[in-house]
Amino acid sequence: MLKIYQQTIKNKVTFEGIGLHTGKESKINIIPGTEDQGIIFKRIDLEKDNIVVASYDNVSSAILCTTLKNKKGVKVSTVEHLLAALYVAEIDNVTIEINSDEVPIMDGSAKKFVDGIKKAGLKKLSKKRKYLKILNKVELIDGKRKIFVEPNTTSSFEVNFQLNYKNKIIGNQKNLVNFQTDQLDDICQSRTFCLFEDIEKIKRFGLAKGGSLDNAVVVDKNKILNEGGLRNDKEFVNHKILDLAGDFLLSGYRILGKVICYQGGHELTNMFLRKIFNTEKVFNVIEPVDFKTSKKFDQKELEKIAVNA
Ligand SMILES: [Zn+2]
Repeated sequence: MLKIYQQTIKNKVTFEGIGLHTGKESKINIIPGTEDQGIIFKRIDLEKDNIVVASYDNVSSAILCTTLKNKKGVKVSTVEHLLAALYVAEIDNVTIEINSDEVPIMDGSAKKFVDGIKKAGLKKLSKKRKYLKILNKVELIDGKRKIFVEPNTTSSFEVNFQLNYKNKIIGNQKNLVNFQTDQLDDICQSRTFCLFEDIEKIKRFGLAKGGSLDNAVVVDKNKILNEGGLRNDKEFVNHKILDLAGDFLLSGYRILGKVICYQGGHELTNMFLRKIFNTEKVFNVIEPVDFKTSKKFDQKELEKIAVNA
């Protein structure tokens, strides 16, 4: 069942830890939001121009992580796992205070964020949540990478992801997840990953300064370097699905449609969201009908539901 009303968090929740790319300690406070405000970051280490809205058109860089930047150049990076946690926890409106320019990486997955948010509790707001219902297929091909979205009949957000690595441990992994009906524990627990041979290259770009086996799966040629190995059989592709859900929340909506992605990542997802919003007649913004509170139930309303179901 789709949630009808917007939600926020009931109580403030705090997370702290190291930033994956900056290597700096940072702390975030997620505080309750109001109807229609969306997800907003507030850099509390800065006195002015410190609001950064979590929107796809504020994405300034999407190489290895998703970075948001406001018009004054103030940034917040590595937002995707926190956004994915807000997606899974069904949160629409919150302010995220942050004392640095990077969200803590925690254990490389969304699990700690999801658990903390659920523990803080959810609060139903009075306005209805808007969904973006896909009406026609949209496709983006970029070399070997491809992503498309098509209408589905299940009124849900489905993601079918496939990745293809030369490395034999990662290899070809694919998974199909329905965010409305499937158990999402494996998705939330799946950690970010990299190849051991790429670490030096990444560090030369000044990235992954905070990276370690505590917050990423590291794959050497034929083995996983983390003690205990993988958390689930499809951890690599499941993490990509987690990233995609977080990046899609930057659309400002939950999408009703089926996304199919080959070899994608943050950058492709952002290019794709821009394409969706720049293409005419591919989606409708809808609100689900609340049968419990709708006083009069007329035929016109029924027809609207039938079209949107
Ligand atoms: Zn990730």
